[in-house]
Amino acid sequence: MGTYLEIALDLLLPRACAHCREDLSRASGPLCRACAAALPPPPEPACVRCAGRRASPAPFCADCAGRRFSCRLIRAAAAHRGPAASLVHAFKFRGSKPAARAAGRSMAAALTLHPELSGFDALAAVPIHPRRERERGYNQAELLAREVAAATGLPLLDALERARAAAPSWRLGRVERRAELSGAYAPREGAASLVAGKRVLLIDDVATTGTTFEECASALLAAGATDAAGYAFARAGDFT
Ligand SMILES: [Zn+2]
Ligand SMILES: [Zn+2]
Repeated sequence: MGTYLEIALDLLLPRACAHCREDLSRASGPLCRACAAALPPPPEPACVRCAGRRASPAPFCADCAGRRFSCRLIRAAAAHRGPAASLVHAFKFRGSKPAARAAGRSMAAALTLHPELSGFDALAAVPIHPRRERERGYNQAELLAREVAAATGLPLLDALERARAAAPSWRLGRVERRAELSGAYAPREGAASLVAGKRVLLIDDVATTGTTFEECASALLAAGATDAAGYAFARAGDFT
């Protein structure tokens, strides 16, 4: 159910596919049927930790091998290109809640492809800075997580907060990004009573190096969670 404004815009504006711009019927989602059926799959074979492509038969890519992580596992429903990137653009920069809901539903549907993501007790959305959330009107990761929660029946815990804003992450390399995000996420007051003893699956829109998931997982473990993993709608990176 959308807001009155969303419904009014829906009735007034001609609607186009968020990717190919083909005209959409009023009943369809943000992507046309062809684009919705053509979400690019995430890289395979994927590194267990960062969901990026790995070359060797070993479970980890060269960047992740031999290191210890709070977020032991990251998976994505799609690669961040083509119609998947257009959906992300629509909910991140064009204020489209229906695009976020569609992405969340495809995350829920893709869970069956990732049995390693089963067995978690609860979900937690990666928080955004309150100022950014006010500007956008929502936290897109929370909209995604709500769809996954509805499909799985898992509770969605409001356990984390964004302590401060970061520079745009695509400008930063892995090491710089790690320094920038260090301490950027923290357990909310009272989070320990929500997450203690729980295995928590973090939800975010786009994963690149996995630094955001790692910082959030550290905060969850610090609050008493026993396990943390990440599930993103789209994995960004160089897939050539
Ligand atoms: Zn299309
Ligand atoms: Zn890796």
